[in-house]
Amino acid sequence: MDIAASARTDCGPVRENNEDALLLDHDNLIFIVADGMGGHAAGEVASRMAVDTIHELLLGQQDPEETRLVRNFQFEDTSSILRERLRYAFNQASISIRKTADEHTETRGMGTTAVALVLDGAHAHLAHVGDSRAYLCRDGQLQRLTRDHTVVQQEIDAGRLTPELARLLPHRNILTQSIGFQGPVEPDTATRVVQPGDRFLLCTDGLTDVLTDAALNDLMGRGLIDDLAESLVEAALTAHASDNITVVCVEIR
Ligand code: CA
Repeated sequence: MDIAASARTDCGPVRENNEDALLLDHDNLIFIVADGMGGHAAGEVASRMAVDTIHELLLGQQDPEETRLVRNFQFEDTSSILRERLRYAFNQASISIRKTADEHTETRGMGTTAVALVLDGAHAHLAHVGDSRAYLCRDGQLQRLTRDHTVVQQEIDAGRLTPELARLLPHRNILTQSIGFQGPVEPDTATRVVQPGDRFLLCTDGLTDVLTDAALNDLMGRGLIDDLAESLVEAALTAHASDNITVVCVEIR
């Protein structure tokens, strides 16, 4: 698969640490963004551990436990196997972060979001936990591919809150699940058929807190992919982002 990609992370003007992490593995077509939380730099530890663990497990030979799991489910198609591998990798990341957190007082309670994109032939496989998002821009139209694991998203789904009002609430970033905090997680996974010209965006809430989907649609549809990550971060900074901002942009050629 011929692709082009760009990525950028920025601490933003307010925070002292950048607790986001990203991975852009062009050779293996694996892309990950994570947004860590926890005091005393623990968020940085959690997001980096999540990105590295998920990457390692996706790359590596399947370990015996994973092989048993995949065989037991008797998945027939590669898409199901890849989604199951993503689910497994997210859970292993969560378990090892939880273990590290329990062993060191300074990292107790740390956690992270993660969103991963794996391209394989004509397919894009996605997994996420938390409020880091994936978007697809096709023919100039932006679609959100992930549903935030947040309290406000649950309220929106129940019809008790509008997305417009949700953007203004101070507790909008409270997560219903995060990697590392509880141990096991239930990532949402999906597979999509890709088309030439498709542009994927993975991002943390530092971007989406200040840019609406309409604003993102406008930015994602234009310019060169090489400049896109930079343009998105610049737009977020101009819109007075206060959080860390991280974006990974991938274009199918
Ligand atoms: Ca954040």
